Amino acid sequence: MNDSAPIKTAPAKPESALKKQHLIDPEICIRCYTCESMCTPGAISHDDLNVVVDFAKCNYCMDCISPCPTGSIDVWRIVDAPYSLAEQLTWTEVPAQVDFGEAASAITESLDADVGALLEKAHSGTGGKPIAPASASKPSVNLFSRAKPAIATVQGNFRITAASAENDVRHIVLSFGDTVFPVLEGQSIGIIAPGTRSDGRPHDLRLYSIASARDGEKRNANNVSLTIKRVDGGVASNYMCDLKVGDKVHVTGPFGATFLMPNDAAANVIMICTGTGSAPFRAFTERRRRAMQNAPGKLVMFFGARAPEELPYFGPLQKVPESLLKTHFAFSRIPNQPKEYVQDRMRKVASSIAPMLLSSSTHIFICGLKGMEAGVDEALADMCRANSLDWTKLKPDMRSQGRYHVETY
Ligand code: NAP
Repeated sequence: MNDSAPIKTAPAKPESALKKQHLIDPEICIRCYTCESMCTPGAISHDDLNVVVDFAKCNYCMDCISPCPTGSIDVWRIVDAPYSLAEQLTWTEVPAQVDFGEAASAITESLDADVGALLEKAHSGTGGKPIAPASASKPSVNLFSRAKPAIATVQGNFRITAASAENDVRHIVLSFGDTVFPVLEGQSIGIIAPGTRSDGRPHDLRLYSIASARDGEKRNANNVSLTIKRVDGGVASNYMCDLKVGDKVHVTGPFGATFLMPNDAAANVIMICTGTGSAPFRAFTERRRRAMQNAPGKLVMFFGARAPEELPYFGPLQKVPESLLKTHFAFSRIPNQPKEYVQDRMRKVASSIAPMLLSSSTHIFICGLKGMEAGVDEALADMCRANSLDWTKLKPDMRSQGRYHVETY
């Protein structure tokens, strides 16, 4: 919301009457803290468990709304006494709206309308609040926190980029043993590296998408796999990439309630990713293969990497039959070849993708580098224009129907 000055007070906030309070849904929040970094009045903070909003400081500027990747930021309650920070920090879900009865209905409606108008402005251009696919299973979230983590044991740690590749990307398998840790394809887990930062505080939580299906890396195993790239100076990534079989790891989560695999076997799923953003799509593909053999819906993946040897799972992916998954690779750094990004590849095969956009069974999932978002959006807009579709209308429709999902960092 950069095109207008922030609104400094709630549209209707008489101290003696009802108020509209901005809250964050701890069930959906993935604890990326983007909202906190965007919050100009400093109203948003977090502890090990929850991200919370200080009613006294929130000025309804809505700067936090559109950057939130999950929509967990977009929660509002009419209250007579605002929920305190201490209360919010204990929540595992947002309390239901209190019914203030007939007498309060006029002020409730007016508060709803005023905040609704601000939200609409905040969401304009983003396509609206993300919601889960209608057919997705109900996820479990926030079962384990920093204060009470699940202890997982490393079962495997394999390099999945070529030995010659610049990127050291690893496939890491974590077993939960006897601990119940239910996950769905598309969810993430949090990892806490041991030790402390230079200021003596514990290391930040790092989120990684689960790369295995809900029933385990191997069918019916109580484990998950992750796709992690070693980053120069990265505390969590180096900790994870150096793990040995048998090491114990503190895990929080699971997180994420919208970026979820549709259960509908007729769903067409267009997956667009760069680098380790492929993790959830490995999980989606494995789910289809195990649970929905001969599904009428198509799986199509656009996967961008610097070169084949830098592409996580390049070898195994080539063995996946086209009847299960149609893969389009885009390589950006092959010597003597023009740079190609996923959005360029999408344009090249537009004639096979555009017809899918006409179907109300089609979902789009985008995961990976933040920078790809704009380019992919333009490619989809071009594809639509060439096929008598209007992306500016289709995108918000898909989003509001739980068919358009973005997870980029
Ligand atoms: P990377 O190797 O740096 O890049 C992958 C490919 O994307 C390269 O070909 C790169 O081209 C290209 N690219 C760069 N800018 C682009 C743009 N604007 N549009 C389209 N393609 C572009 O990727 P990475 O380091 O693996 O990054 C993956 C991202 O996924 C990270 O941001 C990570 O946080 C995120 N992610 C990871 C997980 C996980 O579980 N590990 C889950 C979700 C998301 P160039 O040759 O130009 O560099």
